[in-house]
Amino acid sequence: MKNSNMKFTVIMTLVAVALLALIVVMSSKQDPETVEKETKEVDLAGQPVMGEIDAPVTLVEFGDYKCPSCKAWGEMIYPKLVEDYVLSGDVKFSFVNVLFHGEESVLGSLAGESVFKQSPKAYWDFHKSLFDAQPEENHDDKWITVDKLLEVAKAYPEINQEILRNDVEQEVTIDQVNIDEQLVKEHKVAQTPTIVINGITMADPFDYEAIKEVIDRELEGNGNE
Ligand code: CA
Repeated sequence: MKNSNMKFTVIMTLVAVALLALIVVMSSKQDPETVEKETKEVDLAGQPVMGEIDAPVTLVEFGDYKCPSCKAWGEMIYPKLVEDYVLSGDVKFSFVNVLFHGEESVLGSLAGESVFKQSPKAYWDFHKSLFDAQPEENHDDKWITVDKLLEVAKAYPEINQEILRNDVEQEVTIDQVNIDEQLVKEHKVAQTPTIVINGITMADPFDYEAIKEVIDRELEGNGNE
């Protein structure tokens, strides 16, 4: 009897220690600024990637050319990210299309995929120019049209206007858009922009300090610091 009491005490102690260890591990992994529902890397096969291809940290923006917050993110956060992390080779950046604003989101995405297919080099310039073309006011009014897309593309000789027109009008690049749509579902993207760093979804895409914290933590994890 005494012996089994002892056994019970030992087992309970072991359970308590194991639970404590689990709590420590879990709390060290949890971060108030991130939404780690589940850490899930974004499959970037066939996606545009900026920066060193073997950069240890991957930051993915789920965004929409029609979304004002995405334009703001591109102006406020993205330049800092490039300056602090992409140029140094620590972070690679990718953009996945989200279609939360209907037909215009689809047109923008079809165009983005067409440009990427034609010239991965011109893609990021076109991408930025299309956000620049988003009106500061009344952005809910229709502004993404085939003509607007062609006008934005005109600045880049690598982009063939006829191919772009055809890809958008005939939805030639719809398969790539659908792949992005799948990623949006898979990662339960509910707002734009959504920022995912090495599979970790940020709660606030505009909290650059939190973004830095997660990137730095991930870099440490890779033994690069
Ligand atoms: Ca894509």
